[in-house]
Amino acid sequence: MEKSLQLFNRASHSIPGGVNSPVRAFKGVGGTPVFMESAKGAYLFDVDGNRYIDYINSWGPMILGHAHPAVTDAVYEQLLKSSSFGAPTELEVDMADLIVKMVPNIDMIRMVNSGTEACMSALRLARAYTGKNKIIKFDGCYHGHADSFLIKSGSGVATLQIQHVPGVTQTTASDTLTANYNDLESVKKIFTEHPNQIAAVFIEPVAGNMGCVPPIHNFLQQLRALCTKENALLVFDEVMTGFRLAPGGAQELYNVKADLLTFGKIIGGGLPVGAYAGSKEIMEKIAPVGNVYQAGTLSGNPLAMAAGLAVLATLHENPAIYSSLETKTKQLGDGLTRVCKEQGVPVTINRVGSMLSVHFTDKPVIDFASAQAADVDRFKKYFHFMLRAGVYLAPSAFESWFICESLSASDIEYTISKTSEFLKTRA
Ligand code: PMP
Repeated sequence: MEKSLQLFNRASHSIPGGVNSPVRAFKGVGGTPVFMESAKGAYLFDVDGNRYIDYINSWGPMILGHAHPAVTDAVYEQLLKSSSFGAPTELEVDMADLIVKMVPNIDMIRMVNSGTEACMSALRLARAYTGKNKIIKFDGCYHGHADSFLIKSGSGVATLQIQHVPGVTQTTASDTLTANYNDLESVKKIFTEHPNQIAAVFIEPVAGNMGCVPPIHNFLQQLRALCTKENALLVFDEVMTGFRLAPGGAQELYNVKADLLTFGKIIGGGLPVGAYAGSKEIMEKIAPVGNVYQAGTLSGNPLAMAAGLAVLATLHENPAIYSSLETKTKQLGDGLTRVCKEQGVPVTINRVGSMLSVHFTDKPVIDFASAQAADVDRFKKYFHFMLRAGVYLAPSAFESWFICESLSASDIEYTISKTSEFLKTRA
């Protein structure tokens, strides 16, 4: 770790905390981050020459694995034609058409540069469309770092235990109301207390930012019905789940229709892309058709479109990838459950498709409170044990693991056996 440490020390002088996103710091688990040099398939290689089996996959985008030839070829080919025009391209039309084909229930999509931008723009659009100001979000869900969403947020905000984000004004915060995940009554209560004031309910249809927390039976369906009754838009933040849980994301998997969708991660194939989508009626409120202004110098960037299109087309043409991912993730989840049981260590493993998380607790993890109640100290020791063993987990107990198509059965067996070794240490 010599070179990583040197780089981290250097980075700490010129970059706050030495990282360009707080989730990369090791503050939640202790120690200093590993600096990466390259990656191929399911493996990361650090600057000191160590290899890791990667369960972060760039926090979701690399569903096909790193440096997949379909992606590298497409980006390289585009790079020679210029990396940005600031004018429309055919790639953007191909991308929009393919997404509209893959995702149920959308007519139109607008590209932006990150999941944050997608959620922030969807929020503005929801307010403009409904003429209402307040939104509901769920404790422990993360929708990017726009002011309105940094209230009881998951991901790095939860990892760093930040209760209140300075710089978010009280006025902005007062328009964001929070409910408990998987608790319809808590949502109903907010609607009752704020009649005709709620523009939208934002939700991660499978939460991935407090660990992986699936919706309980019928929760999304009931939430859909409630939003319709209250004239509020239901917004599925599919930044993590989009193209991961199914070609059509959580809407397809759970057969629930949202009014607006946000995307990120896989949609950019590892380049910075986000998007938001919905019906023609709602989407045509956006400028230049309507007055809901939203723009971007690099939106629909050709390199990013080439990478995203290569991944989405691969998924679209090979739907068997989803059953393969399911098999791999089940093998991992079952194996981890088995070794925890053998060692008498309480564990709850949540899994949907290729998202999974390990919570050291004997109670079900169904919301932020139950995720927080797990043994975070044991997770920290587990994280470092696995890192030393060449397995790269998210440096936080409040993040989902992501499984990629390049991960082999023997990588998974190795991960399970190292977990068993860790548990035997009784740490
Ligand atoms: N929504 C969800 C569900 C996310 O998981 C994330 C990022 N982890 C975001 C929004 C924000 O995306 P970005 O980091 O690209 O801004």
